[in-house]
Amino acid sequence: MVLDTVPVRRARKTERVWLSEAMGRVLGEDVLADRDMPPMARSLRDGFAVRGADLPGVLRIKGEVKAGEMPTRAVGGGEAIRIMTGAVIPEGADAVLMKEHVSVDVTVEGDVLRVERAAQAREWISEAGSMAKEGEAVARLGRVVDSSVVAMCASVGRSQVEVFERPVVRILSTGDEVLDIARKPNATQVRNSNAWALAADVRQFGGTAEILPVAPDEEKATRELIEYGLAADLLLISGGVSAGDYDFVEVALANLGAEFYFDRVLIQPGQPTVFGKAKGTYFFGLPGNPLSTWVTFRVFAQAALERLAGMDTDKPFAESAPMAKAYRHKAGLTRFLPGLRDATGAVEILAWQGSGDIPALVRANAIVMVDADREAWEVGDRIGVLPK
Ligand code: AMP
Ligand code: MG
Repeated sequence: MVLDTVPVRRARKTERVWLSEAMGRVLGEDVLADRDMPPMARSLRDGFAVRGADLPGVLRIKGEVKAGEMPTRAVGGGEAIRIMTGAVIPEGADAVLMKEHVSVDVTVEGDVLRVERAAQAREWISEAGSMAKEGEAVARLGRVVDSSVVAMCASVGRSQVEVFERPVVRILSTGDEVLDIARKPNATQVRNSNAWALAADVRQFGGTAEILPVAPDEEKATRELIEYGLAADLLLISGGVSAGDYDFVEVALANLGAEFYFDRVLIQPGQPTVFGKAKGTYFFGLPGNPLSTWVTFRVFAQAALERLAGMDTDKPFAESAPMAKAYRHKAGLTRFLPGLRDATGAVEILAWQGSGDIPALVRANAIVMVDADREAWEVGDRIGVLPK
């Protein structure tokens, strides 16, 4: 639903960053090979450059070629040249005999190489341009920069790359009981952990986070803060979306002319989640219990954020893992529960005290997705798992 609604946004501006700062950013350009890769045919192994037509046969070893130097002579008929991994294939040679095979069917005595087998065509040769051709896109626009992309950019000499500017995500917490973390709560108050967790997730998944002042449980103030929050690329609201008498978020959004794509989802925690658009900006209203907020960000808002950041989100949502312990639940809702995966990959669902239990979330190293239409799992049965 979120992916069908939010288009990948490519119209946004790009900025140039140092390669060392590019990790996790989204490429705003195609990165091109500045030359053929490899630029010349190279040896894939340490061994001997030979001519296939001479084999099997007795060859005379005429010199060597190391990585980083140009061969100074060609391989003539009945000749071989010692060659190192990565070195340019000398003219005349059309195969490399790998050193590790020497002594099986290839023997060396002084400068005489005795070969009792034929060579395969182009054996152990990496052809010029076989990995990429000059001018070819080797990492594409929309690709998230990971360390393989960093290696690619470095390899084509790009110390700076164009990346999309991060979308600005405003974060609005609601609730009279919600207190800034610098203040000391009394027994009826909670510290505003959601804003901090959401800001951390926003940064991790490609956005710039701006935390707004907490909205009191009152329509007008909530509406004013929401209106300010909508002047961003995405607005995340925590709390105030349940059916309580003091939940004003939906009313305030409706008074701002919001269009709602959904205002309830069949998951637990997180049923009252709201998703829509107002004043041209997408928003999510996430239920305020810390695990509800955390889970609904992962399940719904993360994909929208990644799209707004220009990413191609084509990764699987969940993987599957065997259960380490049997489990039962009441069917009807898809549950997202704190889980612990062991070194074999098997997962167990942790005991937790409901959706306020941040300590259980900290103990977890995975989120288990418990299907709505199944009641029981035995040890070894497979179940959905999201990375934490
Ligand atoms: P709500 O979704 O507004 O009904 O909030 C449900 C519960 O979540 C509240 O009773 C608070 O205990 C907790 N809560 C709400 N907002 C926050 C927040 N920003 N940080 C931490 N806990 C919160
Ligand atoms: Mg509330």
